Amino acid sequence: MTEPLLSVRDLKVSYEVGSARIDAVDGASFDVPRGTIMGLVGESGCGKTTVARALTRVIADNASISGGQMLFEGKDLVSLSERQMNALRWREIAFVPQSAMNSLDPVYTVEYQLNEVLRRRGGLDKTQARRRCEELFEMVGIEKGRLSDYPHQFSGGMRQRVAIALALALNPKLVIADEPVTALDVIVQRQILDQLRELQKALGISVILVTHDISVVAYVCDRTVVMYAGKVAESGSMESTLMRPVHPYTMGLRNAFPDLQGAASGTLTPIEGAPPNLAFPPPGCRFAERCPFSIDVCRTTQPPLREIASGHEVACHRAGEATRLRELAARTETWITAA
Ligand code: ATP
Ligand code: MG
Repeated sequence: MTEPLLSVRDLKVSYEVGSARIDAVDGASFDVPRGTIMGLVGESGCGKTTVARALTRVIADNASISGGQMLFEGKDLVSLSERQMNALRWREIAFVPQSAMNSLDPVYTVEYQLNEVLRRRGGLDKTQARRRCEELFEMVGIEKGRLSDYPHQFSGGMRQRVAIALALALNPKLVIADEPVTALDVIVQRQILDQLRELQKALGISVILVTHDISVVAYVCDRTVVMYAGKVAESGSMESTLMRPVHPYTMGLRNAFPDLQGAASGTLTPIEGAPPNLAFPPPGCRFAERCPFSIDVCRTTQPPLREIASGHEVACHRAGEATRLRELAARTETWITAA
């Protein structure tokens, strides 16, 4: 197999809050192969944005990368100088931030904002930048006549497309899009995901698509990394993780979201409870408290992330019983505790 574009190994990212330390990402490992879309999925607060931001090394003032490696084409992003890292941003690794459609500056036209990247970062002259702006708008399906519009003149979906155009401006190899379709209606979600997929294929790039919605992953991704409470619970190809999930958390997420394809979906079953407080993580498996299948060892010992088949990794003590647990997980009563 060819070397992945990105290989994250045992990444640790913490936040200092007063005298407390929150290990928001606590030993995450995953690969992003070239030319694929990888879905990074998990509930709110699981550490998805923290991973995404760590990859660009644009992290909060109270955050620090406290361990691990992020190997991008063999270079460890963790140990690059700020100057070296800056040279990679936009040109090699581009980031579409969470709520990107609201992060465009309201007082400048979108062309002005594209030019900031194209001319300042990319060194293009005025004519080249104009041509590239038109090309980028064509790529994301917006009339080039609208380049001189201000962000508020666009719909939410169009602003999201502009944010994607901005990320693609300097031909990066990896685009990290944090919740690119969250706040949009399902039809617009599908249009944007379809377009992202087309562009990803046409340009041969890799995409990390961060989302809390597993149906978005099912719709467009090649691979999945499921995060729970700062750790990777399961990762692998779409077929292995979503069709035949082995971690009970993945099974639970699958039951909790409607199908983006519009197929008649059965009853949605939420996972009761909430992720643990990361300032005081539980000693064993972080999902144990909410897991309908937890046994004693789950509450005392952390399950390591293990490869159970080629390219399919799972951190669960009961991974060997997945076939039977999947059958049980398909029943609503497994997840709803009787009052
Ligand atoms: P969402 O789906 O809501 O965007 P997420 O998976 O992206 O969630 P993160 O934003 O990475 O989650 O947050 C992971 C954990 O880190 C959470 O417990 C969050 O409260 C905490 N956290 C995030 N940013 C900070 C910060 N600047 N200071 C302290 N804690 C933070
Ligand atoms: Mg987030």
